Amino acid sequence: MRVHQLSGGYPGVFFLKDINFTVNEGKVYALLGLNGSGKTTIIKMICGLLKVKSGNVFIDNTDILTLKEKERAKLISYVPQQCNIVYDTSVIDVVLMGVTPYLKTFQTPNKDHVVQAYYYLKKFGLDHLAHTNYQILSGGLKQMVIIIRALLQDGRYLILDEPDSSLDLINKNRLMVKIRAITNLYNKGCLISMHNPEYALNYCDNIILLRDGKISEIDLGKERIAFVEKKLSEIYGDLKIIRYGHKYLLCYK
Ligand code: ADP
Repeated sequence: MRVHQLSGGYPGVFFLKDINFTVNEGKVYALLGLNGSGKTTIIKMICGLLKVKSGNVFIDNTDILTLKEKERAKLISYVPQQCNIVYDTSVIDVVLMGVTPYLKTFQTPNKDHVVQAYYYLKKFGLDHLAHTNYQILSGGLKQMVIIIRALLQDGRYLILDEPDSSLDLINKNRLMVKIRAITNLYNKGCLISMHNPEYALNYCDNIILLRDGKISEIDLGKERIAFVEKKLSEIYGDLKIIRYGHKYLLCYK
């Protein structure tokens, strides 16, 4: 997926100009930036939820911004910060919403869709919750159900907006491990906006840094740690990256 010269935002309040970056399949990209830097704005523009002023989002040679919502939803599965399902409904029905882009008007999910929905629930150890009311689940479980719904939607790209925001430490880590596994297993291209650069270092392949409306891209597989430290420090202040076994820890100098 190639984001090309994307410009847009909220007229008179906030505007991003000429944003460019690429998300490849099979890789996890962290979208990092301080609060209010425009991460959600970029995600909303890519997903067609906020009209762009100019620019394109190419998947292969198609500008997905020119597609109808249903067609775009077959290419991109979007997981919002908060899913505003406010009525009582079962977990399986929430997951089955993922097939909506493939249904005609008034068509309902068929047996194959239900089998598939159970397959994904089982894969994540949640099939026993299929008939539980979604409303009574914890924040972490709700988040997982929405991610499973996104898998059933079967977009080639998975875009998550701060999926960790309502989770405790254990669930944040679990979620990132799962996203990593999903990306590898299903060869998705994954773009995740997040607050904590430590998760980016430990679970992502690339970082897309947003600062003052400008993007810098860091390939974590290629760049030296000293360079990554310098780039992160430009945003977050004087940081030190510490290696701890196979993991990275971040602290202020
Ligand atoms: P981030 O996701 O990096 O925290 P956002 O993209 O949410 O940043 O916000 C970027 C800027 O756009 C902020 O200044 C925010 O106040 C503004 N903004 C966000 N949503 C709206 C909106 N619906 N109307 C007007 N301004 C908005």
